[in-house]
Amino acid sequence: TENHYFCMGCGATIQTENHEEIGYTPTSVLTKMLEKEEPVYCQRCFRLRNYNELQSASLSDDDFLKMLSSIAEEDALVVYVVDLFDLYGSMISGLKRFIGNNPVLFVANKVDLYPKSVNRNRLKNWIERFAKEYGIRPVDTILVSANKRIQIDELLDKINEYRQGKDAYVVGVTNVGKSTLINKLIQSIGGTKDVITTSQFPGTTLGQIYIPFDEKSSLIDTPGIIHRHQIAHYLAEKEVKKVLPQKELQPKTFQLNAEQTIFIGGLVRVDYTKGERNSLTFYTPQTIELHRTKLEKADEFYARHNGTILTPPTGDNVKQYPTLQKIVFSVKEKSDIVIAGLGWVTIQKPGTIEIWSPKEVDVIKRPSII
Ligand code: GDP
Repeated sequence: TENHYFCMGCGATIQTENHEEIGYTPTSVLTKMLEKEEPVYCQRCFRLRNYNELQSASLSDDDFLKMLSSIAEEDALVVYVVDLFDLYGSMISGLKRFIGNNPVLFVANKVDLYPKSVNRNRLKNWIERFAKEYGIRPVDTILVSANKRIQIDELLDKINEYRQGKDAYVVGVTNVGKSTLINKLIQSIGGTKDVITTSQFPGTTLGQIYIPFDEKSSLIDTPGIIHRHQIAHYLAEKEVKKVLPQKELQPKTFQLNAEQTIFIGGLVRVDYTKGERNSLTFYTPQTIELHRTKLEKADEFYARHNGTILTPPTGDNVKQYPTLQKIVFSVKEKSDIVIAGLGWVTIQKPGTIEIWSPKEVDVIKRPSII
């Protein structure tokens, strides 16, 4: 018969199969812990205890919703972390329903990717409008960068201000930078003291980790969920690194006549179909090459070069990448077309733009933020 072990830190059922999911422990480590009759910890809790370093973990859809509803029953602050570069991919639909009446602090991470020319207030207004559309009325919004340590102490001040001595739950989908952020917060909260506490609910699969503020309250890390709308979801692990930008975006501008096409690797195709000579600026990761062709040659170019000149995707992933579908945008004034997870294209003058992208990936038009 198979034995079940539970992590002393987060209460997750220990498993040795999937390193991205909660409760993961390498078999060799588990064997050693059992042999030495030591308490069993999952890798995520083990690293946090020993190196003060938190790792990301994810949950299945059902468990994720279960975990969110458990937060609704608490009296706590919800710290909702989103990726500024992929707001659509960051949104948890129905979050409002799940977190009850608890106040939400909206934390937009990866602000370092935005060039200095992007007005921070406009950015903030845009994301607040965005949150509202999802029924979220945050008590406050803050733009931060976990990687570059921008506004981290200010964030901790806000968390302390709004939690009023209570717990703070950090929620977010995977890849928004939640673990990086929590690691920075742990440094600010202080020192190398024993950062995790034993779960109050051993045996649950919710996998929450408690990082104490003081004797009575904690910052609680919750596992993320893999979001189907994220473009990263359709790529192999090493390609995901390419589409998750690490450095400030360096925009590239093309002067285009009507009936010209730009490929963003093999991921998305942008056709400028109608209008005067126009200027299109691409705010997409440097690691993905842009290629220009004539519209009439674009189909053939894609068929021949997808996965070779047009990458990512590469190798086996070419076949697995979804078929591109067309969305038509009629641009009346300077606008951005945002492709969830890939960045955006700014169009200077009126014209017609057709975007070819996977059906599941959101593409929307917004007033230009530059
Ligand atoms: P999690 O899945 O939400 O826990 O995300 P991780 O912390 O593992 O980060 C996901 C990716 O985002 C990694 O490639 C990080 O390097 C990157 N990342 C995290 N924070 C930032 C940030 O502030 N700016 C940028 N540019 N990238 C970040």
